[in-house]
Amino acid sequence: MSFTLAIVGRPNVGKSTLFNRLVGRKLALVDDQPGVTRDLREGDAKLFDLRFTVIDTAGLEEVTDDSLQGRMRRLTERAVEMADVCLFLVDGRVGITPSDETFADILRRKNARVIVGVNKAEGKAGEAGALEAYSLGLGDPLRLSAEHGEGMDDLYHVLRPLE
Ligand code: GDP
Ligand code: MG
Repeated sequence: MSFTLAIVGRPNVGKSTLFNRLVGRKLALVDDQPGVTRDLREGDAKLFDLRFTVIDTAGLEEVTDDSLQGRMRRLTERAVEMADVCLFLVDGRVGITPSDETFADILRRKNARVIVGVNKAEGKAGEAGALEAYSLGLGDPLRLSAEHGEGMDDLYHVLRPLE
């Protein structure tokens, strides 16, 4: 039996970049423009010898401030319900924002199994962000770089027992 991993987190932390890396195709659009990705995207992921289903929570990018809360809550809750485990991505260069805290609350309330990923942590970047991410209280953060493929071995070791 395989498992389903949902990549969740606020816009622009690198969810679609990681999704694309895991799926190996440009299925999820990565773009700085608003309005390019919608809703939930599902793909067949490959990480070394691991095979699983991955969900990208897109569709948060285009929302206006007043609809952001409800929209991102609904999308994230749907992804959590579909998934066995969530990879909660934060931006290691920015650190933990109030929006990240909102996502952490959603995940806690849903009792989701969570892996915290501190993305954009290539090289030495993201060391401070990783320390900060402990304060989310969702376990030991993994330092990742979706763009450069760093930390994929650590992600593998955390996911391996779930297969
Ligand atoms: P999403 O909104 O969470 O899906 O984020 P995207 O995957 O669209 O990425 C948002 C921006 O962050 C893009 O400009 C990416 O190129 C950039 N990005 C994603 N992953 C990394 C990373 O590991 N390191 C750096 N430096 N930038 C990244
Ligand atoms: Mg995206």
